[in-house]
Amino acid sequence: MSDFLDKYATVAGEDVIQHLHQLAAPLEGLKVVHVNSTRVGGGVAEILDKMVPMMASLGLDVQWEVITGEPDFYQCTKSFHNALQGMPVDVSLHLRKAYETTNEQLAEQHRELLTEADIVIIHDPQPAPLLKYIPNRKGKWIWRCHIDASRPYRPVWKYLRDFVSGYDGSIFSLVNFAQILPHPQYLIPPSIDPLSDKNMELPISKVRSVLDEFGIDPRRPLIVQVSRYDRFKDPVGVIHAYRLTKRFIPQLQLALAGGGATDDPEGEAVLAEVHEAAGDDPDIHVLLLPADAHATINALQRAADIVLQKSTREGFGLTVAEAMWKGKPVIGGDTGGIRLQVTNHHTGFLVSTPEGAALRIQYLLRNRDLLAQMGEQARDFVRDNFLLTRQLREYLTIIVGLQRGGAERVEIG
Ligand code: UDP
Repeated sequence: MSDFLDKYATVAGEDVIQHLHQLAAPLEGLKVVHVNSTRVGGGVAEILDKMVPMMASLGLDVQWEVITGEPDFYQCTKSFHNALQGMPVDVSLHLRKAYETTNEQLAEQHRELLTEADIVIIHDPQPAPLLKYIPNRKGKWIWRCHIDASRPYRPVWKYLRDFVSGYDGSIFSLVNFAQILPHPQYLIPPSIDPLSDKNMELPISKVRSVLDEFGIDPRRPLIVQVSRYDRFKDPVGVIHAYRLTKRFIPQLQLALAGGGATDDPEGEAVLAEVHEAAGDDPDIHVLLLPADAHATINALQRAADIVLQKSTREGFGLTVAEAMWKGKPVIGGDTGGIRLQVTNHHTGFLVSTPEGAALRIQYLLRNRDLLAQMGEQARDFVRDNFLLTRQLREYLTIIVGLQRGGAERVEIG
């Protein structure tokens, strides 16, 4: 067993790591390529950053390519993201052209790699057309959708579906997100890395120094939301919920921690809306963090009494699992992947409005025993369901299945 994986045995269990080795043994040397559109910022980058080295340490020959483009490309793909999450946005021909041309160019740059790869996993819509430009591919291609596509804006989905239909399979995080497609669809929720800088145990001194840095008082209650500045994450709704609660709990503090993702052109405008909503309240801390501020986010999640993720649409919400892993109950929007993680009244609360969130914040802050108990339940739930090792097992299982597609039975081990 490699040293790298050995460390995971201490958290996930020896048997889990053994199982991964069994699954990976017939895949040794297999060429796997992941493609997404940013190396930092957002959940997909967060997962790949951990998944890729873990696959490599299991003996797969794995590479991670990032598609990058001009502003028109990001404008287009952000519109797709919004449309897949239900916003009625029409995307101009000019932007769609930029999208297709960027993909064609990337295909040209990596033609050999993509043609020869045994397995190609394409994440989200940004690189979805690549398949069209690699007509002689040898391997199997999977489209992995991380977005809450439960009610997509139909004209945009119809356009994207033409690119996605040619894949050998697709992966969604939840059954509600699956679409009518002419290939097998798999359901795999994302996961967090318990040993990363974002999630590892931290000494209390580190947590204190982060609070000091931002002028947050460790003796007063603190609620936190960590998110890119994106309207679907509803940061303004969080401020509203805080204000409603503050009338009854005047000591309350709020930290909104976020940064940009390189493929998200709307962040600045949303951040300006957040500043306006926050006004000059010294107890609202709006933080714009660099992409590598993992330890800072870890500390803020640990310092929080309650973590919020008040999204109105959410593919999964890694931030929810991150907070739960730190023993925090989460008050989350009653939507998408948050429902998979927050079991109402057990690991947190599902809410639909700022008023609902405010009510639950008050309730938990006034019932500290219950708050602690829910936090413990939350941590157990993540250990059982949302660690990286589980997601890797499911990916390997699909890869084994695709590789041995014709076989009636596949024996492992
Ligand atoms: N994140 C971060 N810095 C930020 C905001 C978010 O590192 O300023 C991380 C966050 O901790 C989580 C990921 O980015 O690991 C966001 O994933 P999630 O699934 O919650 O949302 P997405 O951004 O993919 O919609």
